Amino acid sequence: MPTPPTEATGRYAPSPTGTLHLGNLRTALLAWLFARSQGARFVMRIDDLDRGRVRPGVAEQQLADLAALGLDWDGPVVHQSERLAHYAAAIAQLDAEGALYPCFCTRAEIRQAASAPHGALPEGSYPGTCRELTRGERATREASGRPPALRLRAGAATVAFTDRLLGRYEGAVDDLVVRRNDGVPAYNLAVVVDDTAAGVGEVVRGADLVETTPRQLHVAARLGLPAPRYAHVPLALGADGARLAKRHGAVTLADRIAAGESPTDVRSALARSVGLATAGETPTLHELLQRFDPSALPTEPTVLTSWI
Ligand code: GLU
Repeated sequence: MPTPPTEATGRYAPSPTGTLHLGNLRTALLAWLFARSQGARFVMRIDDLDRGRVRPGVAEQQLADLAALGLDWDGPVVHQSERLAHYAAAIAQLDAEGALYPCFCTRAEIRQAASAPHGALPEGSYPGTCRELTRGERATREASGRPPALRLRAGAATVAFTDRLLGRYEGAVDDLVVRRNDGVPAYNLAVVVDDTAAGVGEVVRGADLVETTPRQLHVAARLGLPAPRYAHVPLALGADGARLAKRHGAVTLADRIAAGESPTDVRSALARSVGLATAGETPTLHELLQRFDPSALPTEPTVLTSWI
């Protein structure tokens, strides 16, 4: 049985594909502040399903960086790679309801088909090519040997929700993949299964993920799982206005330490960038918790130029 969500239980869920940069660290700090300022649980999950992109040792480094900033979490760290049976059960549940179909399309085919207009769905959505294949068509595609992905019949649903920072957000849901053609459960399915299992009531994450939320809410509804609340926090940008990346300079905790700063200095600068500290001040986590007010957070991305 999934754990029922408690109002404010929060989480941070990095993908172990590279060192966390200041934007990631700031999102983690904010997620922690959201949960802990409400006296809630905070859990940590490593999103390591995509074995091709996971780099050895990175998850451990990410956790060490988060701990160095003073963040703590409840219970053992959850690894998605150890939860495959749970995703398989959710996929089997959807399949038993006839909600899934195999999709043999290649990326290039989808790109081509998706560029043609197809009703209410936004550009780039899956146009439904494999949704109504006849038995014969399916057999031909199966014979090609290309393993299919599994897609959810979403019926071009539109899902709206109210984000704690961004307000009302609405998105059309296409027939999203729930299991990739290499057999790996899709992010949009796994995240819903995991957040429910951990009793997460409030998902705090970067604003770049807001467009995935209508899909995840749709998946949750189809699985009969409760919907969490969401707060999508602003991204950190480099001086050129692009999303923060290595090329912007000293953007990781290790880089900042090499430049002579302490983890507390870095945490204070992150806090300053969201209005939780003033210049030259190094507030404790306790002080940050007392000051934290979600309604006072910026909603626009921040250019982190002054200290990188
Ligand atoms: N693992 C995802 C990422 O690092 C985030 C998942 C989430 O917060 O929902 O982009």
